[in-house]
Amino acid sequence: MNHAAAPLAYQVIPSDHARSDAQREALLAGELGFGRIFTDHMVSIQWDKAHGWHDAQVRAYGPLALDPAAAVLHYGQEIFEGIKAYRHADGSIWTFRPEANGERLQRSAARLALPQLPVAEFVESLRQLIAIDHGWVPSQPESSLYFRPFMIATEAFLGVRPAQAAGYYVIASPAGAYFHGGVKPVGIWLSRDYARAAKGGTGAAKCGGNYAASLLPQQEAYANGCSQVLFLDPVEGRYIEELGGMNVFLVYRDGRIVTPALSGSILEGVTRSSILQLARDRGMQVEERKIAIDEWMQGVASGEISEVFACGTAAVVTPIGQLKGKDFAVGDLDAPAGAVTMAIRRELTDIQYGRVPDRHGWMVRLR
Ligand SMILES: *Cc1c(COP(=O)(O)O)cnc(C)c1O
Repeated sequence: MNHAAAPLAYQVIPSDHARSDAQREALLAGELGFGRIFTDHMVSIQWDKAHGWHDAQVRAYGPLALDPAAAVLHYGQEIFEGIKAYRHADGSIWTFRPEANGERLQRSAARLALPQLPVAEFVESLRQLIAIDHGWVPSQPESSLYFRPFMIATEAFLGVRPAQAAGYYVIASPAGAYFHGGVKPVGIWLSRDYARAAKGGTGAAKCGGNYAASLLPQQEAYANGCSQVLFLDPVEGRYIEELGGMNVFLVYRDGRIVTPALSGSILEGVTRSSILQLARDRGMQVEERKIAIDEWMQGVASGEISEVFACGTAAVVTPIGQLKGKDFAVGDLDAPAGAVTMAIRRELTDIQYGRVPDRHGWMVRLR
């Protein structure tokens, strides 16, 4: 159904308990962490089969009223996005490739049988939240305002079929620099017992269900002193796919940079595609293909692979120092982050924070 030719008209209902400027400044000056503090407002837009998208609001951040029979609570019909707002030195506020996130939200919606929000409405929802909550975009180095757009099936019906009512929301959380005291390589746990996604499943969609499936192996990673899990392909258990929430790159000593080809069960990261472009710009030989786990282990052991890193919006680029499994460990956690990893990280954040020209037209001004 496409009723939404005209842009949605927003009703803006300012919060009657928004924090004062002084309270907000005090919070922003402290330890921000990630996903702990939320701004004063949120966006909500409703959808139902009869009316399409309607009832767009900016209103006080607060609990949602959901019928206990809402489909999301029973059948997990939920998708989300992650995108940041960056404050530039002149005070202006920008975001990075929002159309790419809006298009991915549409693909996720299609897979989870949820309605598709027009991409222009996705971008507008970020703009609407910034219009009222711009004071929450922090200005400390490497800090940002993390938007969490999400969509849930709200219809109160226990029959198993796509819900005929849904809600789209955007909340936002000021986020501090991911790494304190410099970027430090992390250890990664190779999961052999679990997969995050199946062939024909929802691995390519950004949905909560994929994360639910990754939590138990994630716990195993923590128990083994690692910070994230590496998942292998769900069919043969032989090829590397991605981490629970980040894509992976291998850097070869001969100047190649390699990442797993999109397989249908890998989430197509906006950071991944941006890094592929930046690597091409640097004249590196870029390969998207199947990578056997043995290639990683042997390549690191022989020195042919000189650097490994993970990437995603939240942490941008994270060097991987070591890969560990039940009976092996390759790499060196104490070695410094690689030069290519750090140069790519630097270039991407320089573009995002407006420190270098945006030659690909990736930045969109929100305010
Ligand atoms: C969000 C996400 C990523 C990274 O995507 P970006 O667009 O770069 O933030 C990678 N893997 C999974 C499973 C994700 O959910």
